[in-house]
Amino acid sequence: MPPAPCTPDADAIDCAIIGAGPAGLTAAIYLARFHLEIRMFDCGSSRAAMIPRTHNHAGFPGGITGPDLLARMHRQARDYGATCEAATVTAIERDGDDFIVRTDRSTLRTRTVLLATGVVNHRPAGLDDALHDTALTRGLLRYCPICDGYEVTDRRVGVIGTGDHGMREALFLRGYSSDVTLIAPDTDHELDDACRAALDDAGIRRVDGPCGDYRIDGDRFVVRTAEGDLAFHSVYPALGSHIRSELAIAAGARASEDGCLEVDDHQRTSVPGLFAAGDVVKGLDQISHAMGEAGVAATTIRNLLAERRPIRR
Ligand SMILES: Cc1cc2nc3c(=O)[nH]c(=O)nc-3n(C[C@H](O)[C@H](O)[C@H](O)COP(=O)(O)OP(=O)(O)OC[C@H]3O[C@@H](n4cnc5c(N)ncnc54)[C@H](O)[C@@H]3O)c2cc1C
Repeated sequence: MPPAPCTPDADAIDCAIIGAGPAGLTAAIYLARFHLEIRMFDCGSSRAAMIPRTHNHAGFPGGITGPDLLARMHRQARDYGATCEAATVTAIERDGDDFIVRTDRSTLRTRTVLLATGVVNHRPAGLDDALHDTALTRGLLRYCPICDGYEVTDRRVGVIGTGDHGMREALFLRGYSSDVTLIAPDTDHELDDACRAALDDAGIRRVDGPCGDYRIDGDRFVVRTAEGDLAFHSVYPALGSHIRSELAIAAGARASEDGCLEVDDHQRTSVPGLFAAGDVVKGLDQISHAMGEAGVAATTIRNLLAERRPIRR
């Protein structure tokens, strides 16, 4: 059934939050506690849900799994009346001072929008979903050296990537292990002289691609390379990400070349009333950062709404 039309005289809500990861949920908790009328939408693909157990998120000695953290945040948001609707937002359109937000099942008018849609990591080509998920759960495959590099201290580490990005990830991981190998994903490595010199200086081994035929062997993740099978305690794909900023860009928001939304110190995009927080904005791509940005965005949204009409009990 097509989504219902949005009547022009329908009452606008205060804020539509798109995405219920750490950023969107933090904003929901703040905005609900500001006594504002909000709606939150999520299509069920938070990067945080993929975290087997985070050990760098402050306040949780012993760590916490991503799904548990999200469940706690949903519970906290619900305590203040903010619920999450399972829906994919398909468009944000400016309409006068308001926005029309369209989902796959409804349409609504809102005074402000917070986009907290995150990013999707590119996975190694040919790695099937079941093997990917098992390897991720067991820490054989990892995506975030800042998050969990500590866990691979003095282990045998592979990095799938090349160029400047692959080099930087391998050098970062060299801070945790002396046994780091950079594997080119597709063909021979594409590295300029400076990259090669930096890798050589750090003692990082380089292996040409293509890589594939992934398998788990005991406590190792095995990668077939141009030099044969190599087994690692952990492998980090360094293949970049897809930034889920299309909705905001289509609404006119400025973004960097790679798609990260540009925001000011208050998380305002270049479209008045449209805010962004979390991984979709250029930043640290960490839970703490997403939460901090969402707190700033929510408070700025509250103050912007108060300029349009007094917020009083
Ligand atoms: C394997 C792994 C381990 C990690 N470990 C750590 C760690 O230990 N510590 C740490 O700080 N960080 C870690 N991270 C990073 C952390 O997960 C992210 O920084 C964090 O989840 C960002 O939060 P976010 O809310 O911006 O985005 P996300 O958590 O990705 O949430 C975005 C949400 O937007 C929704 N969405 C997207 N598009 C739409 C749409 N059109 N309509 C409706 N909903 C939509 C998605 O369903 C998703 O729920 C890890 C990441 C990975 C992949």
